[in-house]
Amino acid sequence: MPEVTTVDPATGEVLATYPGSDVDGVLSVLTAVSDAQPAWAARPVEERAELVRAIGAQLRTQAADLAALMTAEMGKPIGEARAEVEKSATACDYYAEHGTAFLAPRSVDTGPNQRSWVAHEPIGVVLAVMPWNFPYWQVLRFAAPTLLAGNTAILKHSPNVTGCALAIEQVFRDAGLPDDVFRSVVVAEADVPEVSRALIEDDRVAAVSLTGSERAGASVAEAAGRVIKKSLLELGGSDPFVVLADADLDLAVAGAVKSRFINSGQSCLAAKRFVVHTSVAAEFGRRFAETVAGLRVGDPRDEATVIGPLARADLREGLTRQVAGSVAAGATVLTGGAALEGPGAFFAPTVLAGVTLDMPVMAEETFGPVAAVVEVADDDEAVRVANATRYGLGASVWSTDPEHALAVGRRITSGALFVNAVVASDPRLPFGGTKRSGYGRELGEAGALEFTNARTYVVG
Ligand code: NAP
Repeated sequence: MPEVTTVDPATGEVLATYPGSDVDGVLSVLTAVSDAQPAWAARPVEERAELVRAIGAQLRTQAADLAALMTAEMGKPIGEARAEVEKSATACDYYAEHGTAFLAPRSVDTGPNQRSWVAHEPIGVVLAVMPWNFPYWQVLRFAAPTLLAGNTAILKHSPNVTGCALAIEQVFRDAGLPDDVFRSVVVAEADVPEVSRALIEDDRVAAVSLTGSERAGASVAEAAGRVIKKSLLELGGSDPFVVLADADLDLAVAGAVKSRFINSGQSCLAAKRFVVHTSVAAEFGRRFAETVAGLRVGDPRDEATVIGPLARADLREGLTRQVAGSVAAGATVLTGGAALEGPGAFFAPTVLAGVTLDMPVMAEETFGPVAAVVEVADDDEAVRVANATRYGLGASVWSTDPEHALAVGRRITSGALFVNAVVASDPRLPFGGTKRSGYGRELGEAGALEFTNARTYVVG
């Protein structure tokens, strides 16, 4: 049976090895999760909400250990790791508080019928395929509303965060969730396509939610489409960060640093392309690069570290190719520009200027601490450049006149538009993409209803 080995990306040392499951092993987990679903759905929604609240409480109780495990497995700086555990707990609080109202039946007057209403009922077992970059948050933002709605779930996490995947299962158990309402399966990378196809094709799986790359999303959605099952895809992003001529540069530079370098640059909704009006481009680039050059890179266990390693060595190789290719095509390195020596997967925080649309850092998603600054002559060109991507997750526009920023931002295609604020997910607001960034919505009321059957009832 293939095994899964986790590696500390800050040192290259092996952390642990886990036995992987094959198709038969995963299907036996599916039997258990499917058998557990009717009893879970039969519980009053208020009871399920209390268990979701208890999951949040357990996350807080175990926060220090959970954060340390994430830092070891994928290199997130420890302060950010703790913040992620806390944010995951807030998703539980939010759905425990509001989920019952979201799921309540809604009356619709269709006279002469006596009564009619829409109920949001569970659909069964939902498969979640998740990535390593926010190993707890991505899972909890899926699991809290999906379980609350009366579904049960199977998690297939990224192999490099297998410890986190198993820890989440344990947190749910410690919170008092009944057995088999939520199970993690460990699958070696080579077996993932076969195992996920077997699960998706099984009649007992009702739907699949995937957060990850376009490649994985297309594969899962194709398998789901063949058997007419719902899929939700949260895929890549190459968010534009548009600095208009009248922007407050202090605010914009601080926002740019935060938006691009959170999670060492490995965030789907990080700003990746900085589209700056020519009148402020030189000043913005200078201040941005100066701040980025001062970001402390190092051991993610050190409280003072701001930028840790990339999560895997191969990710650093991909980023090196993108940066070198862009520089060879004429981009200017304002700071950084290369991988750092040593055993860990570190990459110097980088700002590139003089970037054009055909360069890899503009044409592709960059998943690491690399910012690309492109100069534009006016608002029309800013919109054209912002839209010159196959992605459409988030966008931010910076201006001292919010109406000006909104007018520009409305012309950009994205799932979220932020004005003078860093794009971030929030349990209270729906989150999701347009174009190749995917479809469907997580979080907010929309997230509570995604994996439900909006069932129409009529009493004549
Ligand atoms: P990835 O390689 O697509 O992996 C994501 C998950 O999909 C992993 O569990 C992976 O397992 C699985 N997977 C890969 N191929 C599959 C297949 N053919 N069938 C079923 N499952 C498959 O992505 P990643 O490199 O870990 O994550 C980075 C990407 O995710 C970036 O593009 C990023 O923007 C995107 N992302 C998007 C969001 C969002 O909310 N929109 C959030 C975070 C990340 P294996 O690794 O075992 O193959």
